[in-house]
Amino acid sequence: MNSFVYPGVAQGFRPISEQGTHQFQFVPYGTTERGTILEYLPCTQECWLLVFAGLHGEEAEGTMILSRTLRLLRHQPEHTAVILCANPEGMALGTRGNRNGVDLNRNFPASNWKSAPVECRIILEAPRVTRLSPGKTAGSEAETQCLMNLIEKLNPREILSLHAPLGFVDCPQPTPLTQNLSAALGLPWVQSPGYETPGSFGSWCEDRHLPCVTLEFPRESAETLAIRYVTPLASLLFE
Ligand SMILES: [Zn+2]
Repeated sequence: MNSFVYPGVAQGFRPISEQGTHQFQFVPYGTTERGTILEYLPCTQECWLLVFAGLHGEEAEGTMILSRTLRLLRHQPEHTAVILCANPEGMALGTRGNRNGVDLNRNFPASNWKSAPVECRIILEAPRVTRLSPGKTAGSEAETQCLMNLIEKLNPREILSLHAPLGFVDCPQPTPLTQNLSAALGLPWVQSPGYETPGSFGSWCEDRHLPCVTLEFPRESAETLAIRYVTPLASLLFE
């Protein structure tokens, strides 16, 4: 294993000895109801792309991959802003929803938001019987409101949302980023996930005519995903 070279090394990225920590300054974009700081990495110039992970607290692989991709970079991104974890309390609790038990990806005030309980699967093979709340009202959660406010402020041209473990690139109308991600990561493009997603972040974006790509990492270990994807993601998202 001594000859193994981690992707990114010797390709103009940061020395691997420095990749253990972040070098860029994250700044708050709000707080949760109980005061946990929500933070993001601003870009240095006009924002073209916002990438975020961890809206579902059970999908830690997205946060880890995005973090490692960011740690490869020598310079702060010029046109890409990053949120490593949009649901930090859910992530800390290891739950899909936030601390209030709300599936944040069903809490956005899209025209299709529904007050009915969200029925999700505890694992892929399970039936959709695990219930979460879509929130008391559309947009009820602080994490949802803060993310919407940040998007209002940054006014990105496109958004990339990281999820797992379905293994596809989802975008109703494929953008160049959709096609590039699909080709570089070897994941199929789909027009929809194949089930209804009322109040999802993607639905909210669609209402606003804001292109939103959902990248669903496949069902692999976080380390396998990192080996496979950090280099192409660094090239696609930050250059
Ligand atoms: Zn998800």
